[in-house]
Amino acid sequence: GEEVLADASGMTRNFLLMKIPILENGKGTATVGISTDISETVRLKQQFELLANTDPMTAISNRRHFIAEAARELKRMYRAGENLAVIMFDIDKFKAINDLYGHAAGDRAILAVVDVCRRMRRETDLLGRLGGDEFVIVLPRTDSLEALAAAERLREAIAKTSVIGNEHKKILITVSLGVALSDGVCSLDEVINRADVALYQAKQHGRN
Ligand code: GH3
Ligand code: MG
Repeated sequence: GEEVLADASGMTRNFLLMKIPILENGKGTATVGISTDISETVRLKQQFELLANTDPMTAISNRRHFIAEAARELKRMYRAGENLAVIMFDIDKFKAINDLYGHAAGDRAILAVVDVCRRMRRETDLLGRLGGDEFVIVLPRTDSLEALAAAERLREAIAKTSVIGNEHKKILITVSLGVALSDGVCSLDEVINRADVALYQAKQHGRN
């Protein structure tokens, strides 16, 4: 087995433990133990996991990790006879922010949007960056009215957000969002696709 112990200086260390009972006439009389310090391996494993699961720029879940977590959440919801909502959103005219103010300002805009999401989400909501300027939130145990209200609150909060572009000029950021609900049978892919279609419609109907 594995064991976590503190060393003399109080630092926790991980050990791989092997215990062998010594039997005499069928009776255990002693135990021989071998303990190997695997702290470095454990630390590297945790580091690799973090790197594999997070988007380096925003430190939120990357696409692969988000999809895995969300699929697990959907299964959990279905088992409990509940549903979840998916909000997909994408920054409006993001290319123009990059072109007019530079890539660094674009990066600041992405970080500002993620900051708003972090502040507004419930502890149980899952947040991920699907790629580029596209994000997704899963809201467990949420009906359509609640999901729409959450999306609208997010839209409003982001529209009040700005970052500094060239010559101290403020860049206002808006996003378009699409909301979809699971229905007890459909797959995560299907819910995400429906949210994506709704997002596309929001883009076509004037954005923000
Ligand atoms: P729309 O309103 O239709 O979404 O228009 P848009 O200009 O935002 O179009 P789109 O979403 O296709 O543009 C995404 C752009 O985001 C293209 C790409 O150059 C840029 N981009 C992707 N990832 C990053 C990033 O990490 N940082 C910065 N600065 N730009 C990025
Ligand atoms: Mg965009």
